Amino acid sequence: MQVLHVVCLLAALGLSAAILPKSVDYTGYKVVSVLPKSEEGLRTLENFERQGVIKYWIHPAGLNRPASFQISSSNFELVSNVLAEQALSPIVLIDNIQELIEKQNKEILERQLQKANSKAFDFENFHTYTELLAFMQETAANNSLVSYSVIGQSYEGRDIGQVTVRTGSAGVKQIIFLECGIHAREWITESTCIWIFDQLANGYGIDAEITALVDKFDWIIVPTSNPDGYEYSWASDRLWRKNRALTDNALCPGVDLNRNYDANFGGDGSSPLPCSETYHGVSAFSESEAVAIRDSLAANRGFVKAFVSIHSYGGIWMSPYGYIKELPLEYDEMYRVMAIGCEAITATYGTPFEYANEAAILYLTSGTTRDYAYVGGDNIIYAYTIETRGKAYGFVPPPSEILETAIETWNGIKAMAYNVL
Ligand SMILES: [Zn+2]
Repeated sequence: MQVLHVVCLLAALGLSAAILPKSVDYTGYKVVSVLPKSEEGLRTLENFERQGVIKYWIHPAGLNRPASFQISSSNFELVSNVLAEQALSPIVLIDNIQELIEKQNKEILERQLQKANSKAFDFENFHTYTELLAFMQETAANNSLVSYSVIGQSYEGRDIGQVTVRTGSAGVKQIIFLECGIHAREWITESTCIWIFDQLANGYGIDAEITALVDKFDWIIVPTSNPDGYEYSWASDRLWRKNRALTDNALCPGVDLNRNYDANFGGDGSSPLPCSETYHGVSAFSESEAVAIRDSLAANRGFVKAFVSIHSYGGIWMSPYGYIKELPLEYDEMYRVMAIGCEAITATYGTPFEYANEAAILYLTSGTTRDYAYVGGDNIIYAYTIETRGKAYGFVPPPSEILETAIETWNGIKAMAYNVL
């Protein structure tokens, strides 16, 4: 990728990466979908990925399950030919990622201009980390149900903000805990969580359903759990996934925070290599961002009824385990509730949603927040990952996708909340 060449050049000149050009340019990069039909086809994809020729957007989950990846236009023909030989005819989903990024930027700006005279927070637009935190703090200052706290700092020293919506004192009611934005480029997860937060904070006493849900549960929400990565995805690389910690390899910063938790840390579906998109870090909880969520869970131990980690994209609701195919002891109950959640999502706008234990439906993952919530001492049975809708735009949806994504996801979470035992 272009940025790597620049970094190499800077390193050769003895200059620091701090003077990198503003944005990684994805001109000509495509997103391509394939349907692996043989083990050999899967191995070919894995080889291309290891060599850095392709980068997955949707990792292959097994035979006959679609995978997608980004690839430069210069590698496209060669890779297409190799894949075609193995009956892996690639279908181009996005012809030019840069065009999609620029379209998104333009639409964000247009909405900002449209709303320039309004002081109200625009839930149908994307917001920077600073704007999200300001909204959380301002809501807490003006709403007696809401408290804002800082549960830790990121590698670069940004606050990790948490909001709690609660009618009484802590330590009385059970809690539903929502964590969003752990992968930097998944912007619509921040948008979804901040929308849900507003529904809870400002719907109490007005909307009967919200009132009942806030009477029944305390709600804890961490809308932006990877602030450095998120800021970097706004300023420099729209498709950045990890945090921004330095690693052993100066050319490859960043740990995948969703591989850094103490839940089969370092196992299948995570990488020991700093340049990998799924680099797990040097040890479990080596990253302050992961420690922040761990400590918040620990501070509420015994009260967290459900923990939901919201990601994009794919239209999937997943339970433990990610790291083995074996089913958890309480899987029937996990399955019952996620089936109800998915039914509520689909009933909203017809968006298809799949659900299962992650190892069966997606691929093996080790060190995730969700599995940690279940196995890391809290034994939260209703520990889930939701991959929101959005196959057409991948990680770069237009602002117009925000509202329906948030509404249907919230309908799924509400259905979950009504049905947990
Ligand atoms: Zn993710």
